[in-house]
Amino acid sequence: MQENKKIGSFCVHELKDKKTTKPHQLPIYATSSFEFENIDQGIDIFSGKEKGHVYGRYGNPTIEVVAEKVARLEGFGMDIEPEAILFSSGMSAISTLMMATLKSGDKILSQGNLYGGTTELFAKILQPLGIELIMTNLKQLDKVEEILSKDPMIKMLYFETPANPSLACIDLEKLSAIAKKYNCYTAIDNTFCTPYLQQPFKYGIDFIIHSTTKYLNGHGNSISGALVGKDKTLMRTKIWTAMKLIGTNCNPWDAWLINNGIKTLELRMDRHCSNAMAVARFLEKHPRVIKVNYPGLESHEDHAIALKQMSAFGGMLSFEIEGGVEAGIQFMNNIKMCVLAPTLGNVDTLILHPASMSHLNIPREVRLRNGITDGLIRLSIGIENQEDIIADLEQAL
Ligand SMILES: *Cc1c(COP(=O)(O)O)cnc(C)c1O
Repeated sequence: MQENKKIGSFCVHELKDKKTTKPHQLPIYATSSFEFENIDQGIDIFSGKEKGHVYGRYGNPTIEVVAEKVARLEGFGMDIEPEAILFSSGMSAISTLMMATLKSGDKILSQGNLYGGTTELFAKILQPLGIELIMTNLKQLDKVEEILSKDPMIKMLYFETPANPSLACIDLEKLSAIAKKYNCYTAIDNTFCTPYLQQPFKYGIDFIIHSTTKYLNGHGNSISGALVGKDKTLMRTKIWTAMKLIGTNCNPWDAWLINNGIKTLELRMDRHCSNAMAVARFLEKHPRVIKVNYPGLESHEDHAIALKQMSAFGGMLSFEIEGGVEAGIQFMNNIKMCVLAPTLGNVDTLILHPASMSHLNIPREVRLRNGITDGLIRLSIGIENQEDIIADLEQAL
């Protein structure tokens, strides 16, 4: 849909609910069900003849307006009308997509450096249901094509770009073209970028996932997720049905918080990006820093891909401190302003030492294979004044 406003104005303004059924209780539509005027209206709404809300797990005005906003952001400026569904978490968006589109015998092709929960979902929940996971380096496009051409049971190509922790990027246009050739769905976790920085539908991707817990909410005060699909019919039938029957629906309060977050998306993302760039440049020059992973740096191996498909480079970066695990722990203990917390995309700067925190229980060889070295520090750069972030990192180093 062509919008008649710029993206910042679009974020600020409310969308109005278009459906007419009255809520049983007052907004934030804290109501589990909706009233019908009479039995005829009930029949028409249940049969789909008239648009209206029925029951909170199926949909709710707060949730649906925010879902539409996320969908229109992912299709912003394009001649498409994607459909979105909000979920109780990023994980429930991913699991519902898989349950709705795959069955026993089907396979998922993905990469080793996914969000940890996603890898665990594939391995511990989907594999025992007969949905096999194949992992490869998705940056090696020839290899991807070879795997897809030999195995018609691969029905889903699932990936993240940029991906944790090296911020490795995959060429969306090329990957999507290969998947199309073999009739394979493509799904991207676009959490790190938000539609403000990267719009995967431009490159033919089928499904976009967000942990709206992160940048779209932006303030770290709720857990929620979103799935956006290009195929409106598929979203409204199979995927919506899976959401309502598995019960992975979002709740109106969390939807309202996403709505509030989106109003400042442009302002926050611009600041996250400019702060992250300044921090990356500072770290790159520091004598105790061995390597900085930020797609905005010319030294990043995927800088050219990032330039092609991202409008700016985001707020996530990681760096390697000299001196291994000990140095990492020492550095974390020295931090004064940045917050030690295992999430990302909030207004404050968050810092994580994977080797001693999120990946403590993962064998060292496995961790190293996925690029999580002993002295690696991950930063989710906030919107504070950049001098303060840099000063904190400097004194800690
Ligand atoms: C946090 C996160 C998830 C999981 O989202 P939840 O809202 O915690 O369920 C998935 N992917 C990425 C990239 C994330 O950062």
